[in-house]
Amino acid sequence: MELEIVFGRLGSWDIVILDYGSEILRLRSYSLSKSEKIKKINKKIKMKEKILQIIEYGKRMSASGLTAGTGGNISVFDNAQGLMAITPSGIAYPEIRPDQIILVDVDDGKIVSGKAKVSSEVELHRIFYKYRTDLKALVHTHSAYATAYSCLNKTLPPVHYLLAVAGVDVPCATYATYGTVELAQNVFAAMADRKACLMANHGLLAGGEDLAEAYNIAETIEFCCAVYCRATAMGEPRILSLEEMEKVVELFKGYGQ
Ligand SMILES: [Zn+2]
Repeated sequence: MELEIVFGRLGSWDIVILDYGSEILRLRSYSLSKSEKIKKINKKIKMKEKILQIIEYGKRMSASGLTAGTGGNISVFDNAQGLMAITPSGIAYPEIRPDQIILVDVDDGKIVSGKAKVSSEVELHRIFYKYRTDLKALVHTHSAYATAYSCLNKTLPPVHYLLAVAGVDVPCATYATYGTVELAQNVFAAMADRKACLMANHGLLAGGEDLAEAYNIAETIEFCCAVYCRATAMGEPRILSLEEMEKVVELFKGYGQ
């Protein structure tokens, strides 16, 4: 994204105008040096880009049917600032505006900004950014097949090699009421060494180094659950061995490089 930065003054505010939608980021920073201002602006721009990315993927998630209605949530972590950006509660994905994305301090859970009610699963997202340094984005869905499979309260075995995007299998976290710290802890424990986890009688959580990866994993695990469902309807599917899955996990590490 090409960004044009224009410095100016509006009353006692320093203003910065960016090229997307005449967006004005206001900085009460006229006491700062120009290099400090640029640093501050760059932080704001980075967060803004993450917010726009969440909106883009929310629309994609809604259009693809990966989650129904307002179900599920998406977040991205900015570790330089210790802030996570997360979707609001109860607003249909295509309708979410940038100012309705909530910024949360990962350390203490305090809401920093956002003109809407924060997602009910804010604790679920926060626990991962606090303790899993490998994950910078999370996608939680109520996708049809993964949610149906989560009601079996069982680990999803590697029925298809693509499951390796998440690890050697996809465990299922013990049920707890939605939005609780208990649910966050159960999912965090179950997802150790994996990038996806089923949530019993609820849905799916996928995480990645960025939103593109997290979203791809969520889609891929939904696909694997659908394959498992159809294969078991036709007979008994052969499950890939742990050795084979470990091999594919290694192959995927080098994929695309
Ligand atoms: Zn949910």
